[in-house]
Parts: sequence; C-alpha cells; structure tokens
Amino acid sequence: METLFQNHVNELKERGIIDAENVKVAEAVDKAAEELYVDEIEAYLKHEVNVTQQFKVLKKYGLLGAHVPKKYSGMGCDAVSLALIFERLGQVGMGVVTGFDVQTCLTEAILNRWANEEQKKKYLVPEAKGDKFMSFCLTEPSEGSDPGSLQTKFEEVDGGFKVSGEKYLITNGSIANAFIVFCRNSQKGISAIIVDRDEKHVTKEAEISEKLGLFTSDTTLLKFDEAFAPKENLLANFGDGLKLAYTGLLTGRLGIAAGCVGVIEDCLNASVSRSKERIQFGKEIGKHQLVQHRLSVIEQQLEIASHSVERAAYWKKRYDDDTQNLDLRKSADHNVTLAKVIATNAAGEAADNAIQLFGGSGYSILTPVGRHYIDIRASRIYEGSNDVLELKLASDLLGKGFEAYK
Ligand SMILES: Cc1cc2nc3c(=O)[nH]c(=O)nc-3n(C[C@H](O)[C@H](O)[C@H](O)COP(=O)(O)OP(=O)(O)OC[C@H]3O[C@@H](n4cnc5c(N)ncnc54)[C@H](O)[C@@H]3O)c2cc1C
Repeated sequence: METLFQNHVNELKERGIIDAENVKVAEAVDKAAEELYVDEIEAYLKHEVNVTQQFKVLKKYGLLGAHVPKKYSGMGCDAVSLALIFERLGQVGMGVVTGFDVQTCLTEAILNRWANEEQKKKYLVPEAKGDKFMSFCLTEPSEGSDPGSLQTKFEEVDGGFKVSGEKYLITNGSIANAFIVFCRNSQKGISAIIVDRDEKHVTKEAEISEKLGLFTSDTTLLKFDEAFAPKENLLANFGDGLKLAYTGLLTGRLGIAAGCVGVIEDCLNASVSRSKERIQFGKEIGKHQLVQHRLSVIEQQLEIASHSVERAAYWKKRYDDDTQNLDLRKSADHNVTLAKVIATNAAGEAADNAIQLFGGSGYSILTPVGRHYIDIRASRIYEGSNDVLELKLASDLLGKGFEAYK
C-alpha cells in the first residue's frame, strides 16, 4: 500500500512539480527513514540523544550533503527535493529534523553561499560527506530574538582571532567538530567566524536535557573562552555576521516547515488507523461523526501546511538559481517565513487533534501522536519565534517604516 509520503511524491510528479531526479531522492530518504525509525523510537523512550545514530544512517544515503552542490561532494538537491527530504524525516520525528536542519541548512547553506574555496574544501566538503559536523551558534543566554544585541566577542590577535562568550540552546553542540560563531568586536561589528572544537577553550557547560521534548536531539550550552580561530576562518567580511545568519535561517525555516508536513502526515496516518481499529459504543470510532470531523480537520491542516511549503520551496529554488535578484530574495523570504509560521502552527494543531482522537492512550510518548505533540512545540520558537516572524510578515505587507520588531 502506498504511504501518504509516496502519494505526495507521485502527485507532485503527476503535476510536473518534480522530475525523475527528485523522485530518486525521495526514494532514498524513504529508505533512510525506515532504517532509522526503530533506533530513534528506542532512544526517544529512554530520553537519549540519538544524533550519532541518525547521522550514521543519513550519511549512508548521502543525505547529509543534500543541498550541497555535487562539486562539493553533496547530492545537489534543489529546494523542492530538500523539502521532500524534510517531509519524510518529519514523519520519524522532529528530533531527527532538528539536528539534520542544523547540518544541512543552517551551516552548509552558509558555507555554500559565503565561504571561499579554501573554506569550502576544509569545512563544506567534509560536512557534505558526513565526516564533519558543525553547529550554528547565534543564541546566547541573554539574547535570542534580537541577535543584534549579542555579547560574544572576538579580538584580533597575531594570526587570527580569540572568541569569548556563551552560546545557548546549541543543537549538535556535543558532536560538532567546528562551530559557526556569531560574535562582535567594537570596531568590526557582528561577524561570523568558524571556530574548531578545542577541548580546552570550547567547553560544553551543560547538556540541556530538561527539555520538554526533542529528547533525541542534542541541545547544549557552550562556552568559548579565548578560543583561537586563524584569520582564514572569517566568513565573508567583517560586519557580515547577521547577513550570513539570515542565509542559514532562510534555508533552515524551509526545512522546519517541511518537517512539519511530515509530522501532520504521520498524525493523519495514525489517526485513520486508530479510527478503524478502536471500537466504542459497539462500532469503530471512525463511524462516529465527530471523529470523522476531526480526521477531516487534520487533513485540512495537512493541505494548508503542504501547500505553503510547496510554494515556499518553489520561490526558494528560483532565488537559489539567481541569488543576486532582490525581488526573488524577497519572494523567497516572505514565502518561506509564511510557510514556517503556517506549517508549525498547523502541525501543533494536528498533533493535538490526533491525541484527542486517540483518547487516553494518545497521552503517551509510546504513541507517535504523543511524541509529535511534545516535539512540535519547539518549532514555533526556534529559527525565529513565530511571534517575531508574524511581525516580519506584516511589515512586508505594510512596507518600509512599519518594522515593529526592529
Ligand atoms: C530545541 C531548540 C534548539 C535550538 N537550537 C539552536 C541552535 O542550534 N542555534 C541557535 O543559535 N539557537 C538555537 N535555539 C534558540 C532559538 O533560536 C531561540 O530560542 C529563539 O530564537 C527565541 O529566542 P529566545 O528563546 O531567547 O526568546 P526571546 O527572544 O527571549 O523571546 C521571548 C518571547 O518574546 C517574544 N518576543 C521577543 N521580541 C519580540 C518582539 N520584538 N515582538 C514580539 N514578540 C517578541 C518572542 O516571540 C518570544 O515569545 C534553539 C532553541 C530550541 C528550543
């Protein structure tokens, strides 16, 4: 029997949105997702970080370089294929999506767009091959939505920089071999510097394990204490830090939104099965009209999320093909932001509906709907909280001078 994901892939092919190359990628991620499912759920139930195992399987299928051009050892997927990959991984869980997003979107997208050839050879190629992992270090204990006020500092020293400060809620911080650190200097402004892991000067202050969910994802508090980076590790120019962060987030938000489509598909799938199996008042609960209503609502949530992601991926692909075009950049930015807000909200509501449909047994991490319900909450906060992103969307509508979040 075809799954919801396979149906979606077939339908996109039928409508001419994707081609045979995209279908091959979808088949690869389908296999990878099946292979990592059991370990992922076992780790989830034990509240264990599972990123090493996730990355082992994703590497085997070449997916850790999904959006990196083939000349840098990646798969060369466009934004449409990238969204399909995230959709399928979202069915497994946002614990996989979150770490994968940092590797393939937040860090690789920055390196692909802004690193010079030497930096690409040293960091992007091994990342794409899955031999090296990197973290995106923007958030700090006292700064999140307002990155312009970040406190981490760098000083120029002989041959390079010394970076000092704390970075909070950093995904993959335990396993990263190197970090893209956004840091400031009173003369040079906020810049992005690659810092290699160095046990003495880059320390994991805490594993953030008291999270509400996302147990299999690695979340850390890192301290950089005069961590040295050679001068070759400055990305782009001094003062470009936030521009680079934005490049990563543009791709990352598309990934998160697409992951949410997978979450809703999995909730719908589980809810349909449950509606046919569970008997109350002498018949399958799927024969009660209000249960049917709930199923229909979840499908509507899937449609809304899926449509917004498809549109966002289209504009992101157009922009990727012509990154100097400011109109395309605006369309990509607006549609990706819209998709992130719509899909994360829709996934939260779909998981809530699915739990209600399951009844008491759904209120448990033993069920997929219970796990999705807990994990999806973070997606409305990270990579730009939905509140701030809504202000950004509104200011796009209103035009210059109405930026309420600045
Ligand atoms: C599981 C997880 C993984 C993460 N991984 C990473 C990572 O790898 N790298 C990284 O750098 N960060 C990461 N983060 C951090 C995340 O990006 C931040 O939590 C997020 O940007 C919000 O910042 P904050 O938590 O400091 O909230 P705050 O900025 O303190 O905001 C608190 C609340 O105020 C609202 N708010 C703030 N300003 C405004 C405004 N102007 N108008 C209206 N409302 C406003 C926000 O919407 C929010 O609801 C992660 C977070 C989580 C939960």
